[in-house]
Amino acid sequence: PVLRVAIMGLGSYGTRVAKAMVDCKRAKLVGVISGSPSKVTKWKSEYHIPDKNCYDYTDFDRIKENPDIDAVYIITPNGLHCEQAIRVAKAGKHVICEKPMAINADEGERMVKACKEAKVKLLVGYRMHYEPKTVEVIRMRKAGEFGQPKFFQGQSGFVMGNPNQWRLDKELSGGGAMMDIGIYSINGARYMLGEEPIWVTAQETKTDPVKFKEGIDETITFQMGFPSGAVASCLSTYAMNHLDRFYMTGEKGWVEMQPSTGYGPIKGRTHKGELNQPHVTHQTLQMEGMAQLIFEDVQPLVPVDGEEGLRDLKIIDAIFHAVKTGGKVPL
Ligand code: NAD
Repeated sequence: PVLRVAIMGLGSYGTRVAKAMVDCKRAKLVGVISGSPSKVTKWKSEYHIPDKNCYDYTDFDRIKENPDIDAVYIITPNGLHCEQAIRVAKAGKHVICEKPMAINADEGERMVKACKEAKVKLLVGYRMHYEPKTVEVIRMRKAGEFGQPKFFQGQSGFVMGNPNQWRLDKELSGGGAMMDIGIYSINGARYMLGEEPIWVTAQETKTDPVKFKEGIDETITFQMGFPSGAVASCLSTYAMNHLDRFYMTGEKGWVEMQPSTGYGPIKGRTHKGELNQPHVTHQTLQMEGMAQLIFEDVQPLVPVDGEEGLRDLKIIDAIFHAVKTGGKVPL
């Protein structure tokens, strides 16, 4: 079967996902949920979406009665994900939710619970888990080609432009660079090292308290420790451009990726040479993979489920706590 998807939130990333889905064989955009009638009109004609599959934020619970939609892909500001996901689950539809899955672990747990109760899947838009060079590095790590992983370094950042957007509004974003982009280094550390951290330490620097208000982090450096003794050292920032680099070294080999999480092409090399897997639009691969996951329970090498989203949120909670206390926070 083909996964019939409605997108909620027709903003910049929603538009990117919709375009990427045109090339999918197993997933199709069939509906929209939006507060903007003019966007709905445009999307309807662009993607041949019938009137009966169009909803707004007040009435989308009615999607329950629509047999022609299987899943809702939530691509709205982070602070809205939890409530929206729970409503979608209650309407009996699978939930695909953008990263960060929510703005804290407490919300994440409520989402996981609601989806379990409704017997629907909860998936998080971790597109890198389907990206070919990333998948190859994970395969190599699992096959022992790097030996025991020892150290990960992640740098995630760009200079935040428009000061009036939801990303700088704590209610809607849940935080600053960490929620938005630092999460890539957290997730990357976990899939590159293949372990879950047991402690974090973190330090915050703020140079522009007018643009980055209370609760909106500008730059955070953080460290994570893992059960094997492996360590990670990362930088998350809204104040430096072109930071998109992963490095991992193990007892027998290493990998360097730059760019490591952008829309691609991803570039990287290991101790064995260049990574040359072909670039395919990440969101196309992701939606093909998620259709397979929903219908056939075929899991990617690294999971994209609600528990995976929750692991990153628990680490983000711990990082914010470590920034406040200056101490080492156990996980
Ligand atoms: P955006 O501002 O471009 O779009 C957000 C959309 O949500 C807009 O259409 C807006 O109208 C709508 N919206 C609904 N209620 C709103 C409200 N109360 N306030 C503000 N907007 C509201 O943002 P975006 O860049 O598309 O990001 C949306 C989500 O996608 C975020 O969770 C973000 O982290 C995620 N994202 C993921 C990736 C990725 O590579 N996986 C990339 C970009 C964004």
